[in-house]
Order: sequence, then C-alpha cells, then structure tokens
Amino acid sequence: MYIAIDGPAGAGKSTVAQRVANRLSIPYIDTGAMYRSVTWNALRMGISIHDEIHLAQLAESLDIHFIPGAQGQTVYLGGEDVTQAIRSSEVGALVSTVAMHRLVREKLVERQRKMASEATGVVMDGRDIGTHVLKDADVKIYLTASLETRAKRRYDELVREGYKGTYADVLETVAKRDENDEQRTASPLRKAQDAVLLDTTTLSVDEVVEMIVALCEY
Ligand code: C5P
Repeated sequence: MYIAIDGPAGAGKSTVAQRVANRLSIPYIDTGAMYRSVTWNALRMGISIHDEIHLAQLAESLDIHFIPGAQGQTVYLGGEDVTQAIRSSEVGALVSTVAMHRLVREKLVERQRKMASEATGVVMDGRDIGTHVLKDADVKIYLTASLETRAKRRYDELVREGYKGTYADVLETVAKRDENDEQRTASPLRKAQDAVLLDTTTLSVDEVVEMIVALCEY
C-alpha cells in the first residue's frame, strides 16, 4: 500500500503520517526532513541557499537515514542525530528557498522513489508526493487547516523546543513558506486531482488517522 500525504506547513502531516504508517506496519518517509537536512548542512558548510549546483551535490550525496522509534522517527545525517536541528526556526525560514531549485528537487525525488521502491509500501509526506513523486499511490490525502491553526501548532512545537520568538513571527514564516511552495515553478504545492481533501482545523489527530486508515481499508 502506497500512501501520499501532501499539504501546507503545519497541517499535521508528519504526526498523522507516522501514526498511519505504524498502524499499517509500513515505513514512513518524511520528505520535508530531506529538504531540511540539505538546508541545515548547507548552513553548516557555508554554502549559499542560492547556489543550486552545490546544493544539488549535497542533495545527491548526503547520508540521510530515518530510524523509527517509540517517540517518533530519528533523522541521522551520517552518524549525527539532526532530528531537532533540522526543525529549528532558522532552517524553517530558509528551507523553501532551497526547495525551489529544480536540481535539488530532481536529486531528492530520485532518492525518494528509490526508497519507496525498496519497500512493499510506504507512507510518504511532503508537497509533491501525490502530484509527482508517487503519482500512482493507492491513497492520496491533501491535509490542510486554517493558517492560524497551522501557525499555532508550529509555534507550540517550537516553544517546546526552547524557541523564544513570537507567534507573529512564526505566522509570518509559515505564510511565506506556503507562498514559496505554492508559487515555485518546479513541482509547486498542489492538491492532486485524485487526492482526498481533509481539513484538520477542527479534527483531532486520532480522528484524522482513523479517516485515513479507513480509506486505506476501503
Ligand atoms: O514538511 P516540512 O514542513 O518539514 O517541509 C519543509 C519544506 O521542505 C517545505 O516548506 C517545502 O519548501 C520543502 N518540501 C518540498 N517538497 C516536499 C517536502 C518538503 O518542497 N516533498
């Protein structure tokens, strides 16, 4: 069973995708973590977020691993646990610029398809999974929620990790990231025609997971 979950920032994709994958006993592939890892590494190495060639080389060569665990998934770059680091507000503010580069996307999409083909099924979440990466997915979901709800979820998450900024800053970053993701020329964020739209503004994580599992069993 191949399941594609797309949607804007903070719609709850990772939490829901992870839970659905656990329920169906198949791997979860967080493609946002791959774009974030490239961004984080570029910052560390002093590579400009506008340097498409060097960013694409990183996208091709970075040793990214997802290790599932009881508390969610751990992301490793080489031997280093970068799970928290790649979710920082600094990476969040820059990642959608890195993700605009066509060459970066080509390299990461190639890796995502390979990871999917090596499993008997996956839950993959991102922005272009149903429209591009896994066009033939068995179930496609487009998860969304109001901008305010999504920004509040992201703010709460960052505060738990020690963030000292304001909700207004997070709202602005989330809105800017959505705009970049929707307006880029290479694989912009879109609902696939055959995706089921789920608005999570007033739904709990449990409710959304149950709806998706029911669609998979249908
Ligand atoms: O899912 P997450 O919010 O971690 O994704 C971070 C960013 O990575 C997105 O805002 C988007 O710019 C980029 N992304 C993408 N295509 C994907 C997954 C993520 O462009 N499939």
